[in-house]
Amino acid sequence: MTFELRYVNGWSYYSLPELEAKGIVHGFFTKESPSHTFIGADRNAFLEAFALHDIIVMDQEHGDEIHIVTKGERPDRGDGIILVEPQVAAIIKTADCLPVIIADTLCPMVAIVHAGWRGTAKKITQKAVEKMVRLGAGRENMIAILGPSIRSCCYEVGGEVLDIFQKEGFSERVFVKKNDVVYLDLSRANRELLAGAGIETIYDTGLCTYCTDDLFASYRKGEQGSRQINFVSLRR
Ligand SMILES: [Zn+2]
Repeated sequence: MTFELRYVNGWSYYSLPELEAKGIVHGFFTKESPSHTFIGADRNAFLEAFALHDIIVMDQEHGDEIHIVTKGERPDRGDGIILVEPQVAAIIKTADCLPVIIADTLCPMVAIVHAGWRGTAKKITQKAVEKMVRLGAGRENMIAILGPSIRSCCYEVGGEVLDIFQKEGFSERVFVKKNDVVYLDLSRANRELLAGAGIETIYDTGLCTYCTDDLFASYRKGEQGSRQINFVSLRR
């Protein structure tokens, strides 16, 4: 499967069309999209564009709390959502952090998590997979998608981040060192978490939000007020 930049009613987003065809509606919105707030008319326009019934937007806390939505649950805070209920968009907002979508197309069951460095250090991606498996998803059917985020080309971090990741058992390879500066490779760290959870099929957009700030919000580039919207939902 390969990523495409798609347009629906003015909403512009990266997705895997082949996965959409299997009923896993998902996307990583670009700045061209009309909203990143999902309030009032914008909310309705989004629901209409993607033929969905409801939206879950949480206050994110850089933690590892993952909610399960089977029928009508609407969590208001946390950093991960597992969806069994169809036609509901689970949204994660980012500005440099990594959004990760996990899907079992057969079950079907999907999840989306907010994996910044803190959530990644807390292994939120691995925890989401384990929780999905306990709910009946099959590891052998699961795939993961890594959205646009700040990448190792641009994500300079301090020694305290390095210490935390080493303490949590991540490999040396999740860091890149250039001229005494340390850069964190969030996607590699999350690949390690997914591999640890037995997920082998990973699709990575490979997009760096700092390098492509014409398309995506980058907190580190000074866009503290702007957000990249990432969502997943089950068609049925
Ligand atoms: Zn970059």
